[in-house]
Amino acid sequence: MYGLLGVLLLWCCALYALRREIASAWSEPCLRQPVMVFEGDDWGYGPLAQADALREIAAELCRHRDSTGRHPEMTLGVVLAGPGVAGTPTDALAAARVTLTDPRLEPVVNAMHDGVAAGVFDLQLHGMEHYHPAALGNAVTHDPQVRDWLADAPFCETERLPSPLQSRWTDASVLPSRTLADDDVRKRVVEEVATYRQCFGITPTVVVPPTFVWNECVEQAWAHAGLRVLVTPGERYEGRGADGLPVDTGVCYRNGQRCPSGLMAMVRNDYFEPVRGHRADRGLAALATRWAQRRPLLLETHRSNFVGSTAEPEDSVRAVGDLVAKALVAQPALRFLSVAELARQYEQDGELLDRRLSVRLSALWYRLDRHGRRRKVAAVLVLLTVLAVILAVV
Ligand SMILES: [Zn+2]
Repeated sequence: MYGLLGVLLLWCCALYALRREIASAWSEPCLRQPVMVFEGDDWGYGPLAQADALREIAAELCRHRDSTGRHPEMTLGVVLAGPGVAGTPTDALAAARVTLTDPRLEPVVNAMHDGVAAGVFDLQLHGMEHYHPAALGNAVTHDPQVRDWLADAPFCETERLPSPLQSRWTDASVLPSRTLADDDVRKRVVEEVATYRQCFGITPTVVVPPTFVWNECVEQAWAHAGLRVLVTPGERYEGRGADGLPVDTGVCYRNGQRCPSGLMAMVRNDYFEPVRGHRADRGLAALATRWAQRRPLLLETHRSNFVGSTAEPEDSVRAVGDLVAKALVAQPALRFLSVAELARQYEQDGELLDRRLSVRLSALWYRLDRHGRRRKVAAVLVLLTVLAVILAVV
């Protein structure tokens, strides 16, 4: 009897300790059908070979359709600008930028537009530059890698910059990085959204923070500028630590969450980087896991798979097509959508959401079943319960 009471007490303690995770997992809506989206970052400013790569990807995506007739979508996180000439003076990096309105980048922009028209691309704001111009200017004085990178302008690969400097929304010219002034952030957000409008004729709906480093001020400025959806990795990093790595803040996000800024959060929950050896089996396993959780699978992938010094373009395009073909066989009800459309489903309680209690309970179980520590605690609790029941019966 006392054993059973003890186990009951332990269960109560465990539920109390996990109350925030349980509440968060419970409040995230459940999908009615599996969803898969490729989230392609870093397209736009950079090598002119992007135009051909984008057309190859679009052609592959056009070969597949879901049960509703939709092609798979790759969202393109767009970088709008970069240095315009080799050896741009460091104090003129922002003033002497070249944007996607430059005629030399027209084939790249046209390939994006054609992919959007074919229903296989959707454009998202990634940033004006994939760095903070003043931070990059400061770093040139002590970092030869940055000097060499600037010497290769225009149309150099931002992927070749030191990783901390690829964060646009913190000053990583020194480590740990420094917080940017609020005025600087607001001014740059207004400027990048205006430039996006100039390049594509519309206000962006979705924003993807470069390297997932941003803070509340940036988020509010995006919301103020008219954006609606924020792509996150499920948490927020606000700076770079002494080791150059992103610093976790403990601010978490879930799909469909309305943030204090007014933006709606979406969560990228896996990678598909063919140059790192990711193949269909990995994507299929991720799809099965996310479907059990009744969450969409948002697969992060990068331009560097398809264009640039480390790219394996043919192999990467084939890997994307192979995953799509096998995913349609494994999950015949699979749906292809853009992130903006998916966010609208969460926002408007759309037909893709499933509100049945049995589905929500099952999804809750799989959502909480992802972390090693929690699994061990659950296993010990179940074991103790069984032991207590056996002792009580005997
Ligand atoms: Zn990026």
